[in-house]
Amino acid sequence: DSVLAVFARSVAVIGTGYVGLTTGACLASLGHRVVCADIDEAKVARLTSGEVDIREPGLAELVREGIAAGRLTFVVGAAAAVAEFTARDQPAEVMFLCVPTPMGVGGTADLAAVESVVEETRAVLPSGCVVVNKSTVPVGTADRTSELLERADVAVVSNPEFLREGSAVHDFLNPDRIVVGSNTSQDAAERVATLYARLGAPTVLTDAASAEMIKYAANCFLAMKLSYVNALAELCERLDADVTDVTEGMGYDKRIGQAFLNPGPGWGGSCLPKDVHALLQVADSADFEFRLLRATIDTNTRQFQRMVDKIRVAITGSKRGSVTRKRIALFGLTFKAGTDDLRDSPALGVAALLRQAGAELVGYDPGIPAATTPIESNLLETVDSPEKAAEGADAIVVLTDWPEFRTLDWSALAGVVAHRTVVDTRNLLDPAVLGRAGFDWTGVGRVLHD
Ligand code: NAD
Repeated sequence: DSVLAVFARSVAVIGTGYVGLTTGACLASLGHRVVCADIDEAKVARLTSGEVDIREPGLAELVREGIAAGRLTFVVGAAAAVAEFTARDQPAEVMFLCVPTPMGVGGTADLAAVESVVEETRAVLPSGCVVVNKSTVPVGTADRTSELLERADVAVVSNPEFLREGSAVHDFLNPDRIVVGSNTSQDAAERVATLYARLGAPTVLTDAASAEMIKYAANCFLAMKLSYVNALAELCERLDADVTDVTEGMGYDKRIGQAFLNPGPGWGGSCLPKDVHALLQVADSADFEFRLLRATIDTNTRQFQRMVDKIRVAITGSKRGSVTRKRIALFGLTFKAGTDDLRDSPALGVAALLRQAGAELVGYDPGIPAATTPIESNLLETVDSPEKAAEGADAIVVLTDWPEFRTLDWSALAGVVAHRTVVDTRNLLDPAVLGRAGFDWTGVGRVLHD
């Protein structure tokens, strides 16, 4: 610990969501002194007593360890985090911004939270402190943050985060790379990079615009990969090819890789849609027509509709058949397995289209307790077991890739549904198992050969 103490830095982390809380808890576990701030007072009170309300493996343990070691504390408000260090006579050396940057008007990223933290802390930041933007922000935000700060003695650095929800702690501690960019101070960028030194990850030190661009470039590439696969799946259906075999064959090519090659109901979640729209806006304002990105979005919009068409065909035999008052069980509501995050979930996108078409929806998700589901009740009813969801259903639609759906007792489910029809938008289930249970199974881009 005495060796650690030499490298320990005083770090304020603003925002305690998926990114902020993971950053704070992991940096504390690496030996740094961390004060986390949030505007949500109730959340700060819960965190102070070691209660973590997001579902992330290992996060609650790290938070409690950090608190017990005296390296992790929680306060209300960004200025209070900075003041806490000043009061301890250990001025904050780094302040991470991990606040939301949601999709704003016209698809641009809404920077209100970033700006409000800058305003709150402008007068209290100690000289020499580095402000680090970890939120995903459009190219140019580091410069804009510097202007807003009006502090020549405080550097602004961009350090985008690449963790995935559902494996946030693991990803933070085992990053593929660390990216740090600064326009004004190479020294500040290097200081931020050394916070992660113990992780031994490749580090890209660059200018702020490039660092900001790396985050969008990576996320948009992933969205494009998914749209490409979803389009391929549609073509496979028309040509009697099986997309599962096609993508397996593609994925062995090291230049392509197996990841992000599974077709699905469309991509979504709290990051991809807003980041794709934000880059498109950035491109627009730079007078660049990013057609590939536009097509990536259009393909995705079409994918949601395609899922609804599949469901219509499965239930009525025709794309134009009516699903009015049909009871449809939705298995999975989160945007992917292993998380409790419903933000911009493609499952809810498909649900909204089905609801508009008059279907009655009952949802089950292993990641979220039915009673607390923050979904408008006129969209769907949520229940706490797959059996309850399936009761009297005209079709079961699998929308999230929770592995436990594979091992459900499908024969028992066959006994409670009104019609034995499954539309598997994730190609998750084994069609042979479903067939033995008496279900008609429809996947995406798949042809079943006897
Ligand atoms: P989140 O919504 O989970 O958490 C944000 C937190 O910030 C909330 O607790 C909120 O109360 C708090 N907050 C809002 N305004 C504040 C203020 N003025 N002062 C203090 N706290 C404030 O968000 P998130 O998912 O952690 O995302 C944060 C940023 O990181 C976004 O820009 C996002 O794009 C980016 N990002 C997210 C992920 C991910 O997987 N979630 C991955 C990489 C990057």
